[in-house]
Amino acid sequence: MTEEMLQSPEEQLRRFVETVGGGIVESTFYAKTTSGPSKLYNVRGSTPDPYPQKPTKVTGWKSLLLSQGIGAPCYASAPLPAPGKGKSHPGFDVGGHMTTAADGSVATGGSCYLVPLCSWHNGRYNTAQFTMRSTTMLVLSGYMQADTSATFLARLGGLAEHAVVYVSDDGPAYEYLAESPLEADHAPLLHGCKSEGLPAHHVVFRREEFEGRMVYRIAHAATG
Ligand SMILES: [Zn+2]
Repeated sequence: MTEEMLQSPEEQLRRFVETVGGGIVESTFYAKTTSGPSKLYNVRGSTPDPYPQKPTKVTGWKSLLLSQGIGAPCYASAPLPAPGKGKSHPGFDVGGHMTTAADGSVATGGSCYLVPLCSWHNGRYNTAQFTMRSTTMLVLSGYMQADTSATFLARLGGLAEHAVVYVSDDGPAYEYLAESPLEADHAPLLHGCKSEGLPAHHVVFRREEFEGRMVYRIAHAATG
């Protein structure tokens, strides 16, 4: 995951679209729980917050935790780095995706957990089961591997018929839209963008019903 931490927002969006494969993605939901699991593993293939451009403005997993009153320090209380190693601990560097599965997987349609982690613990996904210092955390439903915070939040609860996820001048962003930006008479002026229209890197979602569930289909993607 250390390597992925250096991914740009553009690379993260491209990876998301590759993972979806042009298909359907579940709508999402998140909730705060006070009784999450106390033993968890890092999710393999999760997408941490992108390398910061203007961190105060970007959408990120860390911001999502903070918005729900969940903050520092790092949740992993064991195992701890050896003396002199892992100096990032016990900082809160990223929102870390955790699962109860020892192989680091999240079942399609399953849930994972989002907790504050230092970058040292976030990079240790192939070794250890972590003990959590608290069971207050966020449960993410509909999360998929390679989900970015923007692609996750844009699919929240089937709220919007159309949504666009894009890389703005400030970093990753998303917006709900009443009409499809592909068919609208006027090109939308998206927040964080200086000019009208879809930015160079974007994914347009369209909500639909599929086998009785609310899902999103990628209506259009430009990921360069
Ligand atoms: Zn830590």
